Amino acid sequence: MSDDTSTKSKSPLAGLSLTFLAPAPDAVTASVATEKTSGEPVSARVVIVGSGPAGLTAAIYTARANLQPIVIGGVVGGGQLMITSEVENYPGFPNGIQGPELMGLFKAQAERFGAKIIDADVDRVDLSSRPFRLWAGGIEYRADAVIVATGAEALWLGLDSETRLRGRGVSACATCDGFFFRDKEIAVVGGGDSALEEALYLTHFASMVHVIHRRAGFRGSKIMQARAASHPKIELHLNRTIEEVLGEDHVEALRLGKTDEPGEERLAVQGLFVAIGHRPNVAVFQGWLESDDKGYLRTEGATTASNIEGVFVAGDVDDHRYRQAVTAAGEGCRAAIDAERWLEEQAAIGKQATAGIA
Ligand SMILES: Cc1cc2nc3c(=O)[nH]c(=O)nc-3n(C[C@H](O)[C@H](O)[C@H](O)COP(=O)(O)OP(=O)(O)OC[C@H]3O[C@@H](n4cnc5c(N)ncnc54)[C@H](O)[C@@H]3O)c2cc1C
Repeated sequence: MSDDTSTKSKSPLAGLSLTFLAPAPDAVTASVATEKTSGEPVSARVVIVGSGPAGLTAAIYTARANLQPIVIGGVVGGGQLMITSEVENYPGFPNGIQGPELMGLFKAQAERFGAKIIDADVDRVDLSSRPFRLWAGGIEYRADAVIVATGAEALWLGLDSETRLRGRGVSACATCDGFFFRDKEIAVVGGGDSALEEALYLTHFASMVHVIHRRAGFRGSKIMQARAASHPKIELHLNRTIEEVLGEDHVEALRLGKTDEPGEERLAVQGLFVAIGHRPNVAVFQGWLESDDKGYLRTEGATTASNIEGVFVAGDVDDHRYRQAVTAAGEGCRAAIDAERWLEEQAAIGKQATAGIA
């Protein structure tokens, strides 16, 4: 995200459908269309669910391994980077790149090697036996291996003004956007450790960080609270709610309400970081795949394997710590390699069984 409003489009979804949703090559669309109209299940060696950095990297790797993956990428494909503008920390782009443009390049690279990308949500799965079964857009898909890369969503306050100014001073990612707020006065809203962590991180750039929390005390560790409270660049505003984000084209101030007494106040800031949590997109896999206490999918040991053999997990859906495009892409690569090796093992086991080798 850049806070240079002069270079920005008005819409936080700028570019959404222009690059990412460009039509797939003819051969690909034609074959999927035939399968769709036949009413038969569509079979694949690998089905990847999700088309953010993790899913599309898994698609590039599995496609280059000749596994002809199908990516069921979501009704709105491309993932979280579709709602941001400038991405300055993805390696290989020294001048930065727009989020939707970057995801368009991921998609083109996956399609170049034969990945089929379907713009639909998986709404039901049956992972009880192989081939695994998944349903999306009224079509049944069958897969020998599945890679789940459904990502996560940042939680927002739900204010119209917050939505309007997203990407123009309002952000949900300090690691991604802190750099744009050098020597600026900004605010972080939230009451957990991650809000305090983001606030401390943002002191490296901002001249002052105001932390706004609706309660009288913070959740989470006392150490983080002590560090934040004693930091010369952090000011805590307790018992305060954000009623409105003010500003025409970029954030200029916050209108704060008080939870402990009547009244309102205005806080002049040029940025607002919303740090009230993330929700991993796991609903469709609930009851099948194990989650941790925060709701993120679990993986086995140092691999991307889930609790179900043949189902692999990658990206923000299992990562509440790093949450970056490059880490998600890295996990997509790992999941693809894990899936490929697992499929090879299964083929070898099948051959041994056929040959009667114990
Ligand atoms: C505003 C913002 C700015 C950011 N800026 C940066 C940045 O500058 N640099 C950086 O490195 N990171 C940035 N990030 C973080 C980065 O976007 C994420 O870490 C990354 O996108 C995670 O990739 P992913 O593939 O795991 O998941 P996602 O990008 O979340 O993609 C998941 C995909 O799965 C799809 N999906 C979900 N459920 C289903 C289903 N049932 N069926 C089919 N598809 C489904 C979704 O529609 C989505 O397309 C930013 C995030 C936000 C929100």
